[in-house]
Amino acid sequence: MIPMVDLKAQYANLKEEIDRSLQEALDSCAFILGPNVQAFEREAADYLGVKHAIGVASGTDALHLALRAAGIGQGDEVITSPFTFIATAEAIRYVGATPVFVDIDPRSFNLQPATVEAALTERTTAVMPVHLFGQPADLPAIGAICERRGLKMIEDCAQSFGATVDGRQTGSIGLSAGFSFFPSKNLGCYGDGGLVTTNSDALAEHVRVLRNHGSQVRYYHQEIGYNSRLDELQAAILRVKLRHIEEYNGNRRRVAHRYSELLSDLPLDTPFEDGIGRHVYHQYTLLSDRRDAIMQALQAAGIACAVYYPVPLHRQQAFAADCAGVQLPVADDIAGRCLSLPIYPELGESDILKVVSVIADACGR
Ligand SMILES: *Cc1c(COP(=O)(O)O)cnc(C)c1O
Repeated sequence: MIPMVDLKAQYANLKEEIDRSLQEALDSCAFILGPNVQAFEREAADYLGVKHAIGVASGTDALHLALRAAGIGQGDEVITSPFTFIATAEAIRYVGATPVFVDIDPRSFNLQPATVEAALTERTTAVMPVHLFGQPADLPAIGAICERRGLKMIEDCAQSFGATVDGRQTGSIGLSAGFSFFPSKNLGCYGDGGLVTTNSDALAEHVRVLRNHGSQVRYYHQEIGYNSRLDELQAAILRVKLRHIEEYNGNRRRVAHRYSELLSDLPLDTPFEDGIGRHVYHQYTLLSDRRDAIMQALQAAGIACAVYYPVPLHRQQAFAADCAGVQLPVADDIAGRCLSLPIYPELGESDILKVVSVIADACGR
């Protein structure tokens, strides 16, 4: 059996470090916003090259609180990708704004600057690029549009921890960003967790207040906030894993490039690196007209695979009211042909060869 991700292999390699870190946190009994959350926020901010990092309860909350602290709300339109996990657009809805889905680039699957530009209206106040599958969106071009039109750029970095654009980390470029530490993400904890990043002192302070019941001083509440703090035990785990993130992302790239080399002669499209930045391969996603046959062959051989995402957001019942008449043919086409293969830092050569040989057979080679 080859899984999509192998969390057990990663834990086995880190067991001593993680167990020690958890035991220390347990011994301290400082379970809410304790020393590990504080230290992790500093360490993550330093790694990401950003002034502030604020730990929150999930990636979804990170996007929600980043939008709220940026002042996005009722009546605002936020342009984003239809080809992403629903949380991107849920966060836009939570603050009362309207998600405006625009079509994606057929090779990188990310937002296209031209379709963003074409969707701008008087009500557009923000753009939320998603660094899908770990590949940075075209932030130089999208950032220039935002700058010119006075729009806020909030990055969805849930899949892109460690990806860079011109040597700058994703999450350090827009006004603010949200990261997820869901266990299978490039930097994952052992439950739910998330992070908001920003270089703005005011926005950071607002997120700190929002995540803790609208309070700066205990039992004095300046607004209605949330209970959305990063858990101390998760922070203890994340501090250990952050020390290994370069190695993990390097290995993901190694696996991806090996797949692409071995699959290059088959009638399918391997992932396109558009050169805008460093792709960290949260997913390795190919396109094929024979997607369903390849899926069946992999499943029969005990190899996991997955369709991320089978239904783009403009076709979800949850967004039906926002999307009457919306036509996004590229997103529809990609959703019908995409297939993600197992990828994780510990995936070895023999398993890579096995995956490739099953796909080659399914393609009749
Ligand atoms: C995982 C994910 C999220 C949400 O993160 P959670 O931690 O699961 O709440 C948001 N956006 C994208 C693109 C994701 O992949």
